[in-house]
Amino acid sequence: MNKPTRILCLLLISAGFLSADTGARSSWQIMTERAQALMKETEVEIDNRLIQTYQGYAGVWTNITSTASIKRTCKEDMCDPVLFRLVNELNPSQNHIKKAGLYFVPFINKYLDRLKDSGIFRQKVTLKKGQYVWPVMGIRITSRVGNRWGKIHGGIDVAASRGSIVVGATDGTVMLIGDQGAYGHCVFVENHDGTVAWYAHLTDSYVKVGDKIVRGQIVGSSGNTGRSTGPHLHFEMRTQQGIILDPEHFFVLPFEEHLKHAQDFENETATRNKQAKVKPSN
Ligand SMILES: [Zn+2]
Repeated sequence: MNKPTRILCLLLISAGFLSADTGARSSWQIMTERAQALMKETEVEIDNRLIQTYQGYAGVWTNITSTASIKRTCKEDMCDPVLFRLVNELNPSQNHIKKAGLYFVPFINKYLDRLKDSGIFRQKVTLKKGQYVWPVMGIRITSRVGNRWGKIHGGIDVAASRGSIVVGATDGTVMLIGDQGAYGHCVFVENHDGTVAWYAHLTDSYVKVGDKIVRGQIVGSSGNTGRSTGPHLHFEMRTQQGIILDPEHFFVLPFEEHLKHAQDFENETATRNKQAKVKPSN
């Protein structure tokens, strides 16, 4: 369904629902408020290697070895050990990491400000409710939804070097994570609008089942797992009934424009500055 049709449907649904309910506000008022909510623009931040999002906190996913001290991991004025334990579901009295692996290091605001001062921040995009962001910066589109070698290709393929940051295209809840045969390592998300998104051929995932994610939040890193001829992200969207949708109908910008904005951002900031004091998580 295209955007105007979607908005019209929502308006009709609200009108139908509300005609039976004669509250203090007229159904026209409520309809108008709903339409305004859909049109309202918000600023969305896109995670990168140096600043990421988890459970509403800004921070960075980091590989931590076992027996590492939590106090030392949460270096002074970078992160709060109490919050670190909370976000990573560790025991409040725990002082050391018991199992090596990926942990989220949430930044305290002062540290975020310091990063900002040194030119490290996230790309911001202004979007209306329901508008999707491209899940990966990528290099080029190598395959679209449609017929490919006599078979239906159900998603869009974006070539991206292994380990590229993959972000949530829209808000949703993580349904499933794991290896899915030809699709490799996948993250499945039930989007806020009822559609289902597949992020496939990943190297790693940075969310867990049941997590609520927001647009621009890191969900994984791209790769070449499963049946894949080269490192790329396969992004697929379906209805709950399994009907394939074309993701390109949901993005605000065509890929080339998205790429240009993302590249301009990288060039303008110190995100890729090797001199940056903050270590990337992968
Ligand atoms: Zn594909």
